[in-house]
Amino acid sequence: MKDSITTPNATPVLEVAELVHRYGPVIALHEISLTVSNGEFVTILGPSGSGKTTLLRVIGGFENVSSAAVLKIAGLDVTNLPANHRPVATVFQHYALFPHMTVGENVEYGLKLRKVSLAERQKRAHKALDLVRLPDKYSRNINQLSGGERQRVAFARAFVVEPKILLLDEPMGALDEKLRREMQIEVRSLQRTLGTTFIQVTHSQEEALTMSDRIVVMNRGRIEQIGSPHNIFESPATQFVAEFMGLRNILTGTISRIDGDLVEIDHRSHPLVGRWTGTCAPVVGAPAFFAVHPRNLVLKRQETSDESGEGVPAYVRSLVYKGADVEIEVDTPIGVLIGATARRGEEGDQVRATWQSRRAIVAPLVASSRLEPDIRSLQAVP
Ligand code: ADP
Ligand code: MG
Repeated sequence: MKDSITTPNATPVLEVAELVHRYGPVIALHEISLTVSNGEFVTILGPSGSGKTTLLRVIGGFENVSSAAVLKIAGLDVTNLPANHRPVATVFQHYALFPHMTVGENVEYGLKLRKVSLAERQKRAHKALDLVRLPDKYSRNINQLSGGERQRVAFARAFVVEPKILLLDEPMGALDEKLRREMQIEVRSLQRTLGTTFIQVTHSQEEALTMSDRIVVMNRGRIEQIGSPHNIFESPATQFVAEFMGLRNILTGTISRIDGDLVEIDHRSHPLVGRWTGTCAPVVGAPAFFAVHPRNLVLKRQETSDESGEGVPAYVRSLVYKGADVEIEVDTPIGVLIGATARRGEEGDQVRATWQSRRAIVAPLVASSRLEPDIRSLQAVP
């Protein structure tokens, strides 16, 4: 962000195009293309095995990429550049600190490699430790620190060398829930203070939503969707993204009618209408899904309901206490639906489950670019 005012056409800090990575016959990354601007906080989100770590390792140079049309960091082609010559630093889940060195020596390690003078090293290490709120731990041994403190040292050691990009692989994965939440806020505010680009990997959708400027959702070595947290959560572009972000009430069918951005699917002969959130144009007859968030599913007493809005008759099956909400499970002709509502029904009530079309979504089952690279990758592998 720092440079964006003075240099509006600044080179992206990361440019990746058509990147493929294989481990022997296994294709871990398929045709990845991604551009990151200077100062962004980007989170790579996906389930275990989706290729997140591989992507980070390929950017960091710990893994020699199989092929890439473009792989540039701050305008520099790094395709054949070894890790220690790339302008990046990495924070791993298991800190990877040197146990026989003090906190100060750990933080200064990268600066020493870069032949920075002792006085300058100490000055920068102290400043870095201040930023991670460990101002008085300079002379401590690593084994005298708690898990959270060690992780802060790992952060200080990484950003003290002033990388163009800080790469973080599940950096909070080893911390307990409470500490993790505190660190999420700290790391986000550290990133804003430094103005450095952070690219973080996580499998936690909550972590991705709370910390990021942009989220890159990965599935089986491919990017499913790139967008702001709001965009990814409210407008999932594929069924995988919808399910991974925890959307409920997902019903599949085929597109039967298109009216501007409102698209109708035929789900077992029931028409269901929602706002189109796919990244390609809808096509009648194509497979798609409809989904409505539980908070947008309103249960009305049958006799008071006007039939003008979208809705189906429903029978209250169960009420599940979820702390802040009560989840209401209803049986309907289109299947079991979940509503989250403050207005409690009773088990056994006959109601009507209603929603506004604009608050429901319709999207393709898979991204439109899916089939073609699949065929190519099959041909590419013996
Ligand atoms: P994630 O970080 O999202 O869990 P990874 O990038 O670690 O995913 O793995 C992506 C895929 O590549 C998986 O199928 C995994 O089994 C495979 N893989 C990862 N590392 C290696 C390796 N060193 N050798 C062979 N296969 C690997
Ligand atoms: Mg991983």
